[in-house]
Amino acid sequence: MKDLKQYEFWFITGSQHLYGEETLRRVAEDSRAMVKAMGGRVSGTLVYKGVVKTPDEITAIIKEANYRDECAGIITWMHTFSPSKMWINGLKILHKPMLHLHTQFNREIPFGEIDMDFMNLNQSAHGDREHGFIGARLRLPRKVVVGYWDDAKVLGEVSDWMRSAVGFIAGQSLKVVRFADNMREVAVTEGDKVEAQIKFGWAINSLSMGDLVQEMDGVGESDIEAVFEECKQKYDIVTANVDAVKYQIKIEIAMRNLCEKNGFGAVVTNFENLCGLEQLPGLAIQRLMEAGYGFGAEGDWKTAALLRVMKSMEAGLPGGTSFMEDYTYHLAEGKELILGAHMLEVDPSIADGTVKIDVQPLGIGGKGDPARMIFDGKEGDAICASLIDMGGRMRLIVADVKAVKPIRDMPKLPVARVMWSPLPDFETGAKAWIYAGGAHHAVMSYSITADMMRDYAEIAGIEYVHIGAETRIEDLKRDLILSDLLWK
Ligand code: MN
Repeated sequence: MKDLKQYEFWFITGSQHLYGEETLRRVAEDSRAMVKAMGGRVSGTLVYKGVVKTPDEITAIIKEANYRDECAGIITWMHTFSPSKMWINGLKILHKPMLHLHTQFNREIPFGEIDMDFMNLNQSAHGDREHGFIGARLRLPRKVVVGYWDDAKVLGEVSDWMRSAVGFIAGQSLKVVRFADNMREVAVTEGDKVEAQIKFGWAINSLSMGDLVQEMDGVGESDIEAVFEECKQKYDIVTANVDAVKYQIKIEIAMRNLCEKNGFGAVVTNFENLCGLEQLPGLAIQRLMEAGYGFGAEGDWKTAALLRVMKSMEAGLPGGTSFMEDYTYHLAEGKELILGAHMLEVDPSIADGTVKIDVQPLGIGGKGDPARMIFDGKEGDAICASLIDMGGRMRLIVADVKAVKPIRDMPKLPVARVMWSPLPDFETGAKAWIYAGGAHHAVMSYSITADMMRDYAEIAGIEYVHIGAETRIEDLKRDLILSDLLWK
């Protein structure tokens, strides 16, 4: 995945000509000092873009931010007062994510020294309020971060928002390849691909299974051997059926080739549509996810694209992010847990301990026994995110969950498995998810937080539903009713 430092965030300080050259020189000097100090402590690359003092300067810098690919967002701060009618023409054409940093260069008031020169220079308290008004008046989606700029909390919030912005910007060039259509008769994996491209930038197209088979025919033995050697190093191959493992490697190489040739960042399969393949892609998909590709099963392009977006956002963080499905429940009273798995395709980036490769019957799909990785998921705080099409709008549902080590061995279960409990408790979490219409498929992430996803949804301009420690069913149901009014 791309390093987050490849994305620039333009730091723009607002002012005006009222204060004279000396004050403006200090404004620029202070801004440069802040950017320098903050730069090494935030996730993206912070670039100081100067002090803007006129409507033309503001419009010019925002136009440039719009067309520069490397710019993933702007951060604005009003050291002094910057009359906000000057910002209207610029902000109304802004197409990049925006963060309004409400801070002040001086942490404390110098009580013994304070005079009107100090007051004229340090005006954020009211300058940023003028700036806030125009953001509200223009109904601009924006993140407001408040606090002293050198504090870890403030820098953390800026860093997290940068990840949300990167998710949105990475989405603008994301291409998803579907090797099959939706699973027959399934509803939640359907959706409006045109709407998805309008909101998220995702181009969702398809190749035929024949294209994949043809690409597989061109994969050389030596390439397969090289990946097989790599697998022997990285994983514990417990099967004697080496041919089945190598067949998956052949699928993996062919899919990778097609992705690289065509710029695809996410892949969609469907076990019902495997014409020409001997096995459902399992190990192949797991390896692709591990390498950063998005994936959705059963034609689920929404989850595939969302997984890719979240992998773009998490670059450099520990944790891991995978395609996931709520599979089976453990309903022991008071100790309820969800067992998450899939037919094959869980990403080893969330594995704890050994990752085995085995070949086992699938029991569905009518093809050969596929090779797959088998492992236990990690314990820790995580989220499950699901994107659904409500008809006329997209809804992103994010649930906070607590993952645990699988509580017992499951020696006969031939797939990767993760166990978790939703917040605030099993009953409320599962009920809220079902009322909200969350899918059986989700992206499970140990690195991305619900707050990052909220900001992502706001940037994209879609509905967001959060299920967490504070969730009450009564409130959630009311919010869903209000959302229906709001988003109509
Ligand atoms: Mn599924």
